[in-house]
Amino acid sequence: MQKNEGFMKALKCRECGREYPLEATHVCEFDFGPLEVVYDYARAKQTLTRKSIASRPQNMWRYRELLPIAGDPTVGFQVGFTPLVKADRLAKRLGIRELWIKNDTVNYPTLSFKDRVVSVALSRARELGFTTVACASTGNLANSVSANAAAAGLKAYVFIPADLEEGKVVNSLVYGADVIAIKGHYDEVNRLCAEIAGKFGWAFVNVNMRPYYAEGSKSMGFEIVEQMNWAIPQHTVVCMASGSLLTKIHKSYQESMKLGLTPETNYQIHGAQATGCSPISTAQKAGMDFFKPVKPNTIAKSLAIGTPADGFYALRVMRDTGGSAEDVTDDEIREGIRLLAECEGIFAETAGGVTVGVAKKLIASGKIPANDSAVLCVTGHGLKTLDAVVGHVGRTREIKPSLREFETLLDADQKVKR
Ligand SMILES: *Cc1c(COP(=O)(O)O)cnc(C)c1O
Ligand SMILES: [Zn+2]
Repeated sequence: MQKNEGFMKALKCRECGREYPLEATHVCEFDFGPLEVVYDYARAKQTLTRKSIASRPQNMWRYRELLPIAGDPTVGFQVGFTPLVKADRLAKRLGIRELWIKNDTVNYPTLSFKDRVVSVALSRARELGFTTVACASTGNLANSVSANAAAAGLKAYVFIPADLEEGKVVNSLVYGADVIAIKGHYDEVNRLCAEIAGKFGWAFVNVNMRPYYAEGSKSMGFEIVEQMNWAIPQHTVVCMASGSLLTKIHKSYQESMKLGLTPETNYQIHGAQATGCSPISTAQKAGMDFFKPVKPNTIAKSLAIGTPADGFYALRVMRDTGGSAEDVTDDEIREGIRLLAECEGIFAETAGGVTVGVAKKLIASGKIPANDSAVLCVTGHGLKTLDAVVGHVGRTREIKPSLREFETLLDADQKVKR
């Protein structure tokens, strides 16, 4: 008898199309192409409708037919369904008719979009019988694996570059995870993890579990479509590390159309990087199909991947949808963080500053026309990367606990204004 794999049919190589069983494996044996989950769309269409979705709890699993687990989810009942905020004040500042923020700074429980991918990876890891989970991380993934593994009673090993922000390190240690800091950049951490994954029987969420893990990002796209009242936005701006999130937002829009949740339409997906680590945006701007690996040097550490695993496919999505890429300097990242905070009251981490800064550039250059509507994917919370903004956000002013001192301070301000 065939195993019940839910709505999943197989893993399939993105290059040669060979199919593989639904195990903890991620590359094709013939051409090393990445494996991707294939679904039974005809069957999914019968139960995944606007009506059925609306009747389900407000978390990422309301789209469960198109998320890669066989049975019921066991991790992530509070994850997702983050706010889509209409950002009128920021729209005015950036010079665009309509702007929305998909606010994953408040994703549960670790304040970044990584809780989506980890919910899927850990649910699937349990189905496959794993008791130890692990990851190679630029920070947020480590936080999310540590927290969600703790709550699920799984053992966790997380591997990070040794130079990460203190906030990100503490945010993994506190859950009791084994945090291993590697003296090297992310690409070296990732290479080591590939070796470890081959040797130990662990579920590495973004190595051998990557085909399942990556699909979790689609929930962000499904939510955007649902929250736009079942419409795909004209423009979506997504920050890129490996480039996976960007490709999966595209896939979620395609699947939403395929299942008839939203009408067929054109849309553009734009990619955002930090200038200090911009292999994908540099290639896009030069009109290339392939990127050149780089050595990262940026305050946007969560995006600091010099050899992006999905860079090639991210370039293809931008080309196919007519989107563009741009990158921003460290100062422009800080300005993006401040703009979003001052206009909308949302404090994003450096990756969010990248998205806002890039959106500003794309609007100014007309690549996102001023008369259109755009959604910016803001993916992580600012309290995680305080080091990046300390000293760049104004100063506190200290006075004695005396009314007279306060009045003197106000008088001085008034004089400056006059
Ligand atoms: C991991 C991460 C991303 C992008 O991840 P991809 O590897 O491109 O899918 C974006 N923002 C934040 C805050 C992240 O932690
Ligand atoms: Zn193949």
